Amino acid sequence: FNEDQRAWLAGFLAGMNSRILSEKDAAPQASAVRTPIDILYGTQTGNAEGLAELAAEQFSGLGFAPRTHELDAVEMDTRAHMRQASFVGSTYGEGEMPDNGELFWEQLSASTAPRLESLKYGVIALGDNSFEELCHAGKVIDTRLEQLGAARLLERVDCDVDFEDPSEQWLTKAQELFELEDNPQGADLAIPAAPAKPAVKKSQWTRKNPYEAKLIENRLLSRDGSGKEIRHIAFDLGDSGIEYATGDALGVMPTNSPDLVTALLERLGASADQTIAGHEAPLGELLARQFEIRTPSRELLKAIEPLVGHDELTHVLTHQDKEALDAFLWGKDVLDLLNLNPDVAFDAGEFLSWSKPLQHRAYSISSCPMAHPGEVHLTVAAVRWSGHANGKGREHQGVASCFLADQCGEGKSAPVFVSPNKNFRVPTDGDAPMIMVGPGTGIAPFRAFLEERRERGDAGKNWLFFGDQHRAHDFIYDDEISAASQSGLLTRLDLAFSRDQAEKIYVQTRMRENAKELFGWLEEGGYFYVCGDATRMAKDVDSALHEIIAAEGGLSEEQASEYVANLKREKRYVRDVY
Ligand code: NAP
Repeated sequence: FNEDQRAWLAGFLAGMNSRILSEKDAAPQASAVRTPIDILYGTQTGNAEGLAELAAEQFSGLGFAPRTHELDAVEMDTRAHMRQASFVGSTYGEGEMPDNGELFWEQLSASTAPRLESLKYGVIALGDNSFEELCHAGKVIDTRLEQLGAARLLERVDCDVDFEDPSEQWLTKAQELFELEDNPQGADLAIPAAPAKPAVKKSQWTRKNPYEAKLIENRLLSRDGSGKEIRHIAFDLGDSGIEYATGDALGVMPTNSPDLVTALLERLGASADQTIAGHEAPLGELLARQFEIRTPSRELLKAIEPLVGHDELTHVLTHQDKEALDAFLWGKDVLDLLNLNPDVAFDAGEFLSWSKPLQHRAYSISSCPMAHPGEVHLTVAAVRWSGHANGKGREHQGVASCFLADQCGEGKSAPVFVSPNKNFRVPTDGDAPMIMVGPGTGIAPFRAFLEERRERGDAGKNWLFFGDQHRAHDFIYDDEISAASQSGLLTRLDLAFSRDQAEKIYVQTRMRENAKELFGWLEEGGYFYVCGDATRMAKDVDSALHEIIAAEGGLSEEQASEYVANLKREKRYVRDVY
């Protein structure tokens, strides 16, 4: 939740505050019993949490007694006693619940869920329109609350990445509907709010006002022969005053590949200095810095379909077959789509109207601020592939990873800002065992976690599961990892190089081989962290964890699930995956 959004919401809610107070003529007295409003949030990257916190802060000024909770933190029975609640739900991946909403959803969707007839509620759903299931989590929560008899005070709002405007309209309506009561029901209910968190110093550097950080290192980590290009990127934070915590992410505002911009200008039959109605900057600048020109938007697909006359595109769009559409789009960028029919001319202004704004990309920070004062480090795999459209081969690039790899050389800089990830932290208890599973670039935050434990002088045991394709080419940070093993900082290291032998060996293979000890660490109060690929690795690691707990703890499948659920409730099983 960044500074612009905070400032915007603070301003908006302040306006809302004065309107409500004057309309209801009810300035709150310090001693008066205040109307509770519960604000429940499900967050993956911190946006929903930030929105919930700020809304609570401002609702408090309106005379309400707001209580904010993570979705998973409130038991179903307690929820049944809530009278007025707003839900801020974020969706991640392909329409999944955020990690701190999984248990909540399990309970809410169960046939045994209690009726919620006395609850009045509203839902703000956050999501990303580039994924098929925009705001899926918020949608299903909204529908289920209604099924359970709760009264929807107003229609849900589904927000894309830029959520300010739609949230503003939603909140304008909400202000008339959430009620300040003379004798508030539920004010006396002992529903614990989340413990107050220490105030975080606000940074002036945000998504809309990023800091131009000077590059100090751009070093290839993977070796010759690797199928990957993994880089260590370090920035100087200069006099920005930027602070971050180990576990946070860094937002990077990329510039599109100059080659792609040139090729696109050519395809549009336009020049870089051409101006487009409604835009101040010249077209070249718009394509380089302001619009997403790699991943096609839904609008672009719909708009070009009748123009290009391409049977397969028409087929997948008409049949709304998601799998077939994904397969068709696999590896294709915007230019490939325009080239489906090279004879069709496109107007540059129209093209822009189908395109989405260029968004930042977030990378898990791989440095601990205590170990590298004034610096921030990233571990980035440059995404490159050869694509073919209409028989013509072209080199393709990931937007931000190749911006960092290719355009951030010596003497260069990049616009950055910190994106906090408050749930992904080294245990506060320095004696607690820590298990980290981070294959590939998933190692990034764990390099920082180990640095933090070293800097703090923590005595807790540390266990790293790491792997990639080949030991010879892909064992990144091997010098640092070996040093940590030798010094004893790393108590256990288990490596899984998947392609060094006939059969695949993955991190979960190593977990299973060491099941007894792994379970022992959990039983000692250990924390279990996962970072990296969400679609396959994190799911398989989760299954392995369940199996290990069942086998070693002598538990049924159900009991093992409850054990894992408890780890999540205690914030001892946390993931940074996408
Ligand atoms: P990767 O593609 O995940 O590959 C790393 C290793 O994992 C390889 O040995 C690979 O083996 C293996 N692997 C493949 N399928 C697996 C499975 N089902 N279970 C366990 N291991 C499996 O590595 P990468 O190129 O560094 O990509 C990492 C992914 O994590 C990217 O999707 C990146 O976006 C994401 N990431 C996320 C975060 C975050 O959430 N903050 C941070 C860093 C990276 P084979 O290739 O031989 O099958």
